[in-house]
Amino acid sequence: MDGSPQNSSTDVSIRERLTFDLDVDICVVGGGLAGLTMALEAARMGASVALLEGRNIGWNASGHNLGTVMPGYGVAVSGLIERVGFENARALWSLAQEGADYVRATVSGTPGAALNEGALEVSKVDAGDELISRLQTLGEDFGTEVEGWQIDRVREALKTDRYFHAIHFPKAFQIDGRQYVHRLAALAEDAGVRIFEDTPVVSIDPAGIRKRVATPSAKLRCSHIVFAGNAHLGAPGRRLTATLLPTWRYAALTEPLGERLAGAITFRGSVADTHDIDHFRIVDGDRLLWSSPETTWQGDPQRYAKRIQSRIAAIFPNLGPVRIADAWSGMFGQTVHGMPQVGELQPGLWVLSGFGRQGLNTTAMGGQLVARAIQQGDDRWRLFSPFELVWAGGSAGRIAGQVVGVWSRGHSAAAGALSRFRERARGREQAQERAREARMAAAKAQARAAGQRTAMSRHEDNGGSAGGA
Ligand SMILES: Cc1cc2nc3c(=O)[nH]c(=O)nc-3n(C[C@H](O)[C@H](O)[C@H](O)COP(=O)(O)OP(=O)(O)OC[C@H]3O[C@@H](n4cnc5c(N)ncnc54)[C@H](O)[C@@H]3O)c2cc1C
Repeated sequence: MDGSPQNSSTDVSIRERLTFDLDVDICVVGGGLAGLTMALEAARMGASVALLEGRNIGWNASGHNLGTVMPGYGVAVSGLIERVGFENARALWSLAQEGADYVRATVSGTPGAALNEGALEVSKVDAGDELISRLQTLGEDFGTEVEGWQIDRVREALKTDRYFHAIHFPKAFQIDGRQYVHRLAALAEDAGVRIFEDTPVVSIDPAGIRKRVATPSAKLRCSHIVFAGNAHLGAPGRRLTATLLPTWRYAALTEPLGERLAGAITFRGSVADTHDIDHFRIVDGDRLLWSSPETTWQGDPQRYAKRIQSRIAAIFPNLGPVRIADAWSGMFGQTVHGMPQVGELQPGLWVLSGFGRQGLNTTAMGGQLVARAIQQGDDRWRLFSPFELVWAGGSAGRIAGQVVGVWSRGHSAAAGALSRFRERARGREQAQERAREARMAAAKAQARAAGQRTAMSRHEDNGGSAGGA
């Protein structure tokens, strides 16, 4: 099953903690997707690497995501071009594509791994013009395979009046997120990475050529430290953590829905709306894997499962009552500009975080970039330099983040309602127009019939002779 990540090996430590002092080339702090990819690639390039994980591999977002691998970043491509210019935006985009290719190649080697193809980005508003311009930029300028779907096609695949147009990404795909994180860990160990679980890094001393890393029961010396701890990093990188807005996203898996699911959804890939409110896909044949609400504090997933239930009911009322089998949450750090933090903070101290909602292809990209930077002097990470570390606003920022999130989501829900209202109004207008045309046609037919009767009676009055007037 590729549905619920609960009750899985993501929740227990299976590796020992670091209890003895160690000397390595690279110390990676954090055993999520970002840290594991970086460690694996650096080891493949010949570095000696230790990865220290405070809890266990994949316990957070990396083992609890929906597994959708999309091209690009979680920011609008137009915003990216505005910020860094067309050529750099295109270079960044192609790096993100390399990230997606990396995930595909890594998962393809997993025995029994099945890749589901395709993703739909659906619009909750009737904005066809915007869609055409995005299609042009993505397809023609950025070389991404995309297809525009008109309303009829979208509603054939998703039987709801909530969605209008869509962009279809035929090369996007879905994976089992849990399997992927553990696959990376296994490959990293095969390549020589030493992974220690239950080993939080409590402080670092990054001065000098050989840097020091302290854990509760041992010390480590290394030439490079890579912070890949997401917004959990804590004491060793307080200033870095302050540049991330921690965001908890909740997800749920439904009970099997049987035949009725096929009556509501025929699309087999992932579906996400343009405002990132809802993201779902079918798993195990007839269950829905759905993620939707977000908070800037840690809430109870069971409570948010009810919210997911009501979102499903609002979008697919035809499904009828849907029972939730499991619910969970994961936290990701969001940057103020929405782009990941990838690069060197000071000689030998690297950062890999801020991957937000779209972390599968981007952690793969970031991990490879930093490994190549350290081992091969590849400086393409500098493409991320315009996205400097911006303070996320501390606890006030969290409140602001929640308010802005709720507002923009509310705003987009309102825009969706407006589009549906307009569509219904347009439907009513068209029906009225058709009725008006029918009345006109009937009136004309009546007038024609009356005219013919008058002509006939005149004809009869004139004695029935042709041209008798
Ligand atoms: C519900 C949900 C659904 C999602 N769906 C998708 C999706 O479909 N597609 C997609 O692309 N993205 C998705 N994402 C986002 C994606 O999962 C994340 O962006 C990605 O997993 C982040 O990886 P990471 O390695 O940066 O962070 P994490 O997974 O948080 O890993 C960081 C690790 O560092 C460790 N750590 C932190 N500080 C220390 C320390 N001081 N010492 C030692 N260890 C430390 C932590 O314990 C943690 O294990 C989703 C996220 C959520 C929550």
